[in-house]
Amino acid sequence: MRALSQFKRLVVWFRRDLRVHDHAALAQACQDAEEVIPVFILDPNQFAHKEVGSGRVQFLLECLADLDRSLIARGSYLTLLRGNAVDVLPRFVACVGAQGVYYSLDIERWSGQQRDRALIQRFAEQGLVFRGFLNYYLQLEGEYDRERWHAEWTRFSKQPLYPPPEHIPTPQLEPCPGIQTYSYIPTLRDLGLPPNTQRLLPGGETAARTRLFTFLDQRIATYRACISSPSRAEEDGTSRLSPYFKFGCLSIRACVQEARRRYIGAPPAVQRSLQAWVSRLQWRDHFIQKFALYPEAEFVNLYRPFDAIRRYEDADPKLLEAWQQGRTGYPLVDASMRALVETGLINFRMRAMLATFLTLNLMIDWRHGAEWFMRHLLDGDACVDHWQWQMQAGITQPTRPFLRAYNPLKQCHDHDPEARFIHKYVPELRTLPPPLVFEPHKLSPFEQTWYGVHIGRDYPAPIVDAEATRKSAIEIITPIRELLAQAEREGRLDDYRNTLSDVTPWLRVAAPQADEAPAEMVAEEEA
Ligand SMILES: Cc1cc2nc3c(=O)[nH]c(=O)nc-3n(C[C@H](O)[C@H](O)[C@H](O)COP(=O)(O)OP(=O)(O)OC[C@H]3O[C@@H](n4cnc5c(N)ncnc54)[C@H](O)[C@@H]3O)c2cc1C
Repeated sequence: MRALSQFKRLVVWFRRDLRVHDHAALAQACQDAEEVIPVFILDPNQFAHKEVGSGRVQFLLECLADLDRSLIARGSYLTLLRGNAVDVLPRFVACVGAQGVYYSLDIERWSGQQRDRALIQRFAEQGLVFRGFLNYYLQLEGEYDRERWHAEWTRFSKQPLYPPPEHIPTPQLEPCPGIQTYSYIPTLRDLGLPPNTQRLLPGGETAARTRLFTFLDQRIATYRACISSPSRAEEDGTSRLSPYFKFGCLSIRACVQEARRRYIGAPPAVQRSLQAWVSRLQWRDHFIQKFALYPEAEFVNLYRPFDAIRRYEDADPKLLEAWQQGRTGYPLVDASMRALVETGLINFRMRAMLATFLTLNLMIDWRHGAEWFMRHLLDGDACVDHWQWQMQAGITQPTRPFLRAYNPLKQCHDHDPEARFIHKYVPELRTLPPPLVFEPHKLSPFEQTWYGVHIGRDYPAPIVDAEATRKSAIEIITPIRELLAQAEREGRLDDYRNTLSDVTPWLRVAAPQADEAPAEMVAEEEA
């Protein structure tokens, strides 16, 4: 017989945890309450954010539809509220007579962290429960220590999983006066967003689980060999699960446990791939932890001495546009950018090459790149994205002995030797075989006529000299890294940090106020 429940009704607030498997807040609410009301809040402010793109919102909407189907199969359904969570959630809880809210702890944007703090205070004032559960490992208290963090992550990843609830007892609700809800999953058009133009993976936990198991069943053995090749990664050589992790359609620790289970007795190649894959899942959580520790990284350079060398407002608009449009004159850079814009995904190495091309070769502030990536990436996740951008721009980890700038020509030879990827995404160069296609600007006038590719007409000449600009970037950045490395050795690195007070002007730019957002726009949850 079921034990007496602690609560009559609880709301489960879904955020970036759009699944029913290994969902601590949902499972615990089903234990603790007689009735459970699953909700998701679409907030107009978040859709007005300059880093939001229609492709990722479309993916989110598919995740919500899939979650709703899973809840319906368990006797429940998703209530979609519209508005600012700090305002809407307490009113909704009062209206439905719930005793509180269970939710998954999450870090992404600073605005989300502020929202959660405001809600903690609001619910405490009202004497209601507002209880957060770990959704992935996050150190919440105490001094951060890298070693300890890794040990705790491993411990957390081994804990038993929460099975999906068989039945979720959700009452039929009367409309709450003054609270807007959606009676169906809205479309992009309903949300006032432009149509999606990207070729997307299907959203949702069901698609995520299918992809996870086919990846581990059929493709894991060659995973390591596929990581750096843009074509092989794109042909599902890597898991391409990042959009699902972004929205919490999969539990990281469930994936880690599945990988560990398959590790035992597997051939060495599979074991190495499983290890490499699990370490990437750990990196992801680690980037999120860093964001929790240094929320200013969403907006500003981690270290102040870098502020002067690449200022946001100084970006050369022509160079920036050439990079954004995939018209730099470097075929692999251009193919990678066009693939990213067309599909919302690209492998790590090509992302890193695009990032160093913008920040080191073009000397443009990383925030332009991060914004553009976020607008187009299906997995766009500020924690990973903004931190990676700062890393690739060479402005984190000052004690690391070298500054890495990816050579766009070498990447062609190493990772697209047959030019499959270039030919796919830069069709105007299809007549050119490798290695000619790697440096089309070196074609003689005769070759240009022979192959029907006229540089400056059909395809641009390089917008900068990659080797010369790489050297000059290193000359500019290295002395600052040395200064910071010295400060770190002397325990003074924090003296050079930008802080949240340096962020204030950026907060204004990054997060429009409620009244700036067009009335018909509705937001996604941290998309
Ligand atoms: C400039 C730049 C921006 C990036 N922006 C994002 C972003 O917004 N969102 C995002 O999820 N990843 C981002 N990455 C990291 C990485 O490129 C992607 O996670 C990876 O390409 C996703 O492909 P996959 O799912 O096939 O990964 P797999 O190789 O199958 O790895 C499994 C999972 O591990 C995680 N992961 C893999 N590589 C990394 C990494 N380097 N850092 C953190 N987590 C990782 C992802 O969740 C991924 O799905 C960025 C990298 C760079 C250089």
